[in-house]
Amino acid sequence: MLVEEQKIIDEFFDKCHENALNVTPQRLAIYKALVKDKSHPNPETIYKSIKPDYPTISLATVYKTLETFEKKGIVSVVTPLHDTVRYDAEMHHHHHIVCVKCKKVVDLIDNDLDKFPIPKSVLKGNQFLNYSIQFNVVCSECLKK
Ligand SMILES: [Zn+2]
Ligand SMILES: [Zn+2]
Repeated sequence: MLVEEQKIIDEFFDKCHENALNVTPQRLAIYKALVKDKSHPNPETIYKSIKPDYPTISLATVYKTLETFEKKGIVSVVTPLHDTVRYDAEMHHHHHIVCVKCKKVVDLIDNDLDKFPIPKSVLKGNQFLNYSIQFNVVCSECLKK
């Protein structure tokens, strides 16, 4: 087994343990598929990628499992511009570059953006949690078309 693969598995066990969630082979498969797919996939894409190894899994199970992960804070949802819900296993603070045409979502980690001043109106009366900036673009591939 690859070192990277073992790292993902260890991380998943830790996260499940912290959130009082049972580790099942299907849950692990869904999590692994999401971590490995950097395109911010939707549940259908994840379903198709694990179906060959888990023929008995249903699309509804994949949906439900991802919803559970999200509620537990194990993954996050990327929603802008998309017709279907898209998931992200990268839980460190980051931003997104979104192509408005092909809907591709690319992670952006930029220390300068992390120094962005939080407006007073956000802080007033609210408990501030975090923020993520979305840059809307037409990507280089779409521009070529
Ligand atoms: Zn594009
Ligand atoms: Zn992301």
